[in-house]
Amino acid sequence: MPWRETDDSYRIWLSEVMLQQTRVDQALPYYLRFLDAFPTLPDLAAADLDDVLVKWEGLGYYSRARNFYRAVQQVAEQYDGHVPSDYDAFRALPGVGPYTAAAVLSIAFGGPYAVLDGNVIRVLTRVFGVEDNAKKTSTLRRLQATADALLDTEQPGRFNEAMMELGATVCTPRSPACPACPVRTVCTAFAEGDPEHYPNVPKKKPTPHFDIAVAVISDADGRMLIQQRPEDGLLGGLWEFPGGKREADESLEAACAREVREELGLNVDVGAGFAPIKHAYSHFRITLYAFACTVVSGTPHSDAGRPFRWVTPDELDGYAFPRANRRLIEQLAHRAQNPSLFDG
Ligand code: SF4
Repeated sequence: MPWRETDDSYRIWLSEVMLQQTRVDQALPYYLRFLDAFPTLPDLAAADLDDVLVKWEGLGYYSRARNFYRAVQQVAEQYDGHVPSDYDAFRALPGVGPYTAAAVLSIAFGGPYAVLDGNVIRVLTRVFGVEDNAKKTSTLRRLQATADALLDTEQPGRFNEAMMELGATVCTPRSPACPACPVRTVCTAFAEGDPEHYPNVPKKKPTPHFDIAVAVISDADGRMLIQQRPEDGLLGGLWEFPGGKREADESLEAACAREVREELGLNVDVGAGFAPIKHAYSHFRITLYAFACTVVSGTPHSDAGRPFRWVTPDELDGYAFPRANRRLIEQLAHRAQNPSLFDG
């Protein structure tokens, strides 16, 4: 992995941010694309947030991108562009939690901090036979203390990488490769013969699902109306087609018209629908129903202070959109290229 072959703390930090909640094979192309655009910390600090979000688009969990960008700006201003190697200083930066701090400081600077992520938790609970609920703070504290005690202080970065790698490639959630595992002789779960018994993680509640109705509002020049999401919150700072959740007993068309009226002060005629788009977020799932709309009355304005713009289809690539909206844009392009398939 390229982030294992560099001692550039900015690049190591970026990789740790991207790899949170994202698999290595998914993150790798984004990592390379991001560094192509912002090869150094000062390059990123001087960039526009919109450009940063465009490069992050598709990777999800956009608060990571916004926090990383803000943190890098602080490093540029307060530390002359040098990532601080002091734990408290680094931990005080936006978005830097205990995991990121331990990973970056140990790998980039040899700091004596043990990482505790999902992979390490799995390895430790199995090796030591920890039965307690692995989501509880008290259990996590105990596991952190265990990781701290095990840490190789001569090579903390290598130790952390090895622990995470062991969990990711050998001690996997399902069917761990125990016969090939270098720690099987001291592993409680292996001795008990049921490694998947650990970690003890209570079952998740069923994921809620929402229907989302959105409007593709076109004007006479073929431009479309898009709106920016509030900076704080889910998908913050990204752009989208206006719309929102369908309420109980409301038709999708009515939800679409209501959302546009509430968000932009426009009355629209709701026309033909596009193919529904399903998408799963971490804590809920959506089905996005888009409708071609035209303005009947009103001039767009945003009471909530959310910026909106009329843009041509070609300009859409210059904005960062959530994944489901991007798939809608692909449908729009497909229709524009194959009008005969959709006429009538
Ligand atoms: Fe995991 Fe099996 Fe190794 Fe124990 S022996 S750490 S359960 S892979």
